[in-house]
This record gives sequence, C-alpha cells and structure tokens, in this order.
Amino acid sequence: MSPDDGTEGLEEGLNAAAAAGTEPAATKSPPSPPKLPPAPVPTPQSKTRKGNEVFKQTQAPQPGMESVSRDAAAKQEFGFEIPVDAVPLPSKGLVYPPEHPLHGAQQVEYRAMTAKEEDILMSEALIKRGTVITELIKNCLIDKTINVNSLLSGDRNALMVAIRISGYGREYKPTFVCPECGGKNEMDVDLADLSVKPMTVEPVAPGLNAFAFDLPVSKQHVEFKFLTGNEEEVVMKNMESKKKRGMANTNLVTTRLLSSIVSVNGSDNQGLIARFVGFMPARDSLELRKYIDKHEPGVDMEVEFTCTGCDYIDNIQLPMGPSFFWPST
Ligand SMILES: [Zn+2]
Repeated sequence: MSPDDGTEGLEEGLNAAAAAGTEPAATKSPPSPPKLPPAPVPTPQSKTRKGNEVFKQTQAPQPGMESVSRDAAAKQEFGFEIPVDAVPLPSKGLVYPPEHPLHGAQQVEYRAMTAKEEDILMSEALIKRGTVITELIKNCLIDKTINVNSLLSGDRNALMVAIRISGYGREYKPTFVCPECGGKNEMDVDLADLSVKPMTVEPVAPGLNAFAFDLPVSKQHVEFKFLTGNEEEVVMKNMESKKKRGMANTNLVTTRLLSSIVSVNGSDNQGLIARFVGFMPARDSLELRKYIDKHEPGVDMEVEFTCTGCDYIDNIQLPMGPSFFWPST
C-alpha cells in the first residue's frame, strides 16, 4: 500500500512535470522525461473498464456548443463564444458547508481553455510556486466565488481532466516505464474513458467533511475527512522533506492518518489524535485506510498497461507527465 495510490498522485505528478519540463514557449527547449508516480501496487485481476461516460461529453471547443461568453467581447468583436460545460462533482457537494458555493452541488460549470490559460501554464513564476494548476482551474471556473483550495482533491481532479479535454482534446500519450523489463512505453490513453467515482458514504452531518468509522480491533470510534487538493500537497511535501532528511518511509502511513482523522471518540484534540495514531493497532490502521481509499470520491485513474517489449500487463494509475497540460513539450 503506497500513499500515492489513488488520484492524489495526479496533481503532484503534474507539479513535478511542470517544474521539470516546462520552459517559456519562446525557448523551445527539448522535452524532458515526464516524472512518473511510483510503481503502482499490482492488482490481483485485470478488469475491463466500464467508464461512466462523464468525460465523453466533454469535448474540445466546437462551434455551436451551448455557451456563455467570458466578457462578451469575444462574441461582440469576433462573433464566437467560449464554450461552457459542466463536470459532475464526485463529492456531490456533500462535504461543503452551507455557505460554500458548491454546497450540495451535483456539478460545477467551467469554461474551455483559451490562449489566456495557456499563458498561465507557461508562467514560470506560477510553476515555481507550484500554483499553476490552481490558477488554471480558478480561471476556468464560471463561479468566481469558489475558492479552488477548498475543493476536495477528487473534485479538483475531475475539473482538471475536464479542462484538459476542453483545451487539448481527449488523447493523452504519457510515457510509462515497464516495471518488468524497464522498457519505455508510450501509452495512448483516451481521457474520456476515465470515469468519475462518486461519493458512496454519507457525512456525519450534511455539509460536514466528517465520516464515521469504527475500528475493528481497538473498538474505538473515529471520524475522518477527505483531503482537499491543498491538504494532499502538504502531506506530500511533508513526506518529501522527511525523505530528503533521510528519514525512513515509516512515517508515511501516520502522516496521512494524522491529516485525515478529525476526531477520536468525539475528541478533536490534536495531541490526543497524534498519540492515538501512534498506538493504533496495524490492522485498525489498515482497515481505516482501506475504507478511506474505497470511498474517496474522485476520478478513477486506473488504466490498463500492456508493455510492447515484454507483454507485461497490469492495471496502473495513469502516469502524469508534462504532456497532460503541456502537449507540445
Ligand atoms: Zn516490459
């Protein structure tokens, strides 16, 4: 079990790709190899994907699509409108408080990428700050009162995939290194085949990002939350800096649990939660993490990989490289 399982590797991979692979457009530098997420945990059996066709409805800009204009200027001056579409929120808005613009919202509207968003993607300052994807999403959201940093990681990922398709189409060709033979493979992925994984559990109260779980061994009652994209990033950075300082990977599990658990037996005391996580039986920790992974809303990024060199086949988490948002690199 790796902390990079699931969709949280998506944005992290992109940020790394941005930092490593993108230069200002003018310099036309050669592409650098995409940074790949760690090798995925093999799954026992292959399964045939059954997409829920959410992203199939997302199209690259087409004339005649239902649309509203960004500032009416495009329409008035040039006679075309920037297409607007909606993507389902995997969280169904269930975790956002009543004052949040997405409280109870089934979907969120965004507008297709334009040259202005390409400028954002090329901004070295934003890439360095690691906020390039946040800025991109912010620009494309129709409702400007939505704080992008408040979005659950999975909702954010759904927006990212939809916005990418709106800008560069559904074809994505990441590079993946075969874990069996080490051969470099160029994959050909149809992003429209990815499916949204909707929330399948109810929060303890409407509009509250808190979910109940009873630990099987210690019989304690905990509440956990699903992390926002921002919180995911903090966890990842935390782990990276620990790795850099030569600390073993043993902290990965507790770091994630500490960020996810919001209360133990009704107490939200941080010190108590930290001590509790330290004493938690391994099976409790495993069961809780399995439960969180199973129910976390988001985009199912699992794709089938077949090595052209050695016929190795496995389901893997879609690798995130520069060509996701920087197709020309
Ligand atoms: Zn191979």
